[in-house]
Amino acid sequence: MTDQNDLLFERARAVIPGGVNSPVRAFKAVGGTPRFIQRAQGAYFWDANDKRYIDYIGSWGPMILGHGHPAVVEAVQKAVLEGFSYGAPTEREIELAEAILALVPSMEMVRLVSSGTEAAMSALRLARGATGRKTIVKFEGCYHGHADALLVKAGSGLATFGNPTSAGVPPEVVQHTLVLEYNNLQQLEEAFALHGSDIACLMIEAIAGNMNFVRATPAFAKRCRELCTQHGALLIFDEVMTGFRVGLHGAQGVLGITPDLTVLGKVIGGGMPLAAFGGPRAIMEQLAPLGPVYQAGTLSGNPVATACGLATLKEISKPGFYEALAKKTRTLVDGLKAAAAAEGQPFNADSEGGMFGFFLMNELPQNYATVMTTDNAQFNALFHGLLDRGVYIAPALYEAGFVSAAHSEDDIAATIAAARDIFSKR
Ligand SMILES: *Cc1c(COP(=O)(O)O)cnc(C)c1O
Repeated sequence: MTDQNDLLFERARAVIPGGVNSPVRAFKAVGGTPRFIQRAQGAYFWDANDKRYIDYIGSWGPMILGHGHPAVVEAVQKAVLEGFSYGAPTEREIELAEAILALVPSMEMVRLVSSGTEAAMSALRLARGATGRKTIVKFEGCYHGHADALLVKAGSGLATFGNPTSAGVPPEVVQHTLVLEYNNLQQLEEAFALHGSDIACLMIEAIAGNMNFVRATPAFAKRCRELCTQHGALLIFDEVMTGFRVGLHGAQGVLGITPDLTVLGKVIGGGMPLAAFGGPRAIMEQLAPLGPVYQAGTLSGNPVATACGLATLKEISKPGFYEALAKKTRTLVDGLKAAAAAEGQPFNADSEGGMFGFFLMNELPQNYATVMTTDNAQFNALFHGLLDRGVYIAPALYEAGFVSAAHSEDDIAATIAAARDIFSKR
């Protein structure tokens, strides 16, 4: 039988660089042909060969209700009939803003944009505008979208600034970006001691989901907050992934820390292009049209996207939603750990709410360098073994996984059984 995915990949590569519109979809890290998805429902999607997969990516986080939730579909269908985009304000934008602010107490005002990249980039500009400072602090392994100033890796020492990780980013553009090791308290202290009065903001994924799944230790997160306050820098929590994913109040709720600015995306759009950033009124009012910090967007607050986001937020705000989701995710993680232990496979895993990560090693990594010591070949064998067995996890070892409300106990059990089968045949 001809593999339809192969045919589509060939066609795609002729017209789209690498055949994909976002690099990780290309299966470059794991090898093989990317699956072209034709439809999705609940916890599943089907590829071009009509093969069904249990989906643990959920569009990289947004599909927390599973695919095609009836209430969300209905809201989107209704919105589409009323018009796709107006370029003028709507009541629904106020409703979504109010809904977000009600759930994230650190935010008094919010601006809606179309992607996480745009939200993080804008938050950064706002932080620099509001503080009148240039320097930004970020951590190795945290991803904040692909704005130039954030595509940067650590320089040779703390006194030196970062180097671009992408061609097309001039070194001058990242010369104000300091890249530190995640969970390294000593580096954090040194950076503020050396550069404190120049630091506009510190941006962090407080539960990192772009180096698999790594938590900031409570002491580290607390020290980030203290040092920012002490030195007049803004603490920015990038919760594009963790917002409404690890819990109803995000990573800041889990850690009990109040950031100055919060960046949101993924779940708040329910699968539509929607993201946001927000914080205290005095800072947010620095934005145009009120203040001097420019930011704009033709499709910002799009009426169809906001309908999708609102309907999604309504469902996840129902009592018990996160308790059930967290329990299910925990069952998956515990089951995988038990399966690995039974087959003598070095393994560890962690989860919070509907987000999880697993590692083919006995420790839970604290930083990017440790995550990257994972044996690539072993991970790739597991990935392809699961894929063959109808289980779709992220095609790279440095990505997190996502469980939705639509995943059933049977789906979880089937996933654990598939993993155990693979571990037993190592
Ligand atoms: C996905 C992600 C982004 C970028 O969002 P896009 O919508 O892909 O631009 C930024 N920050 C974090 C933490 C993310 O997970």
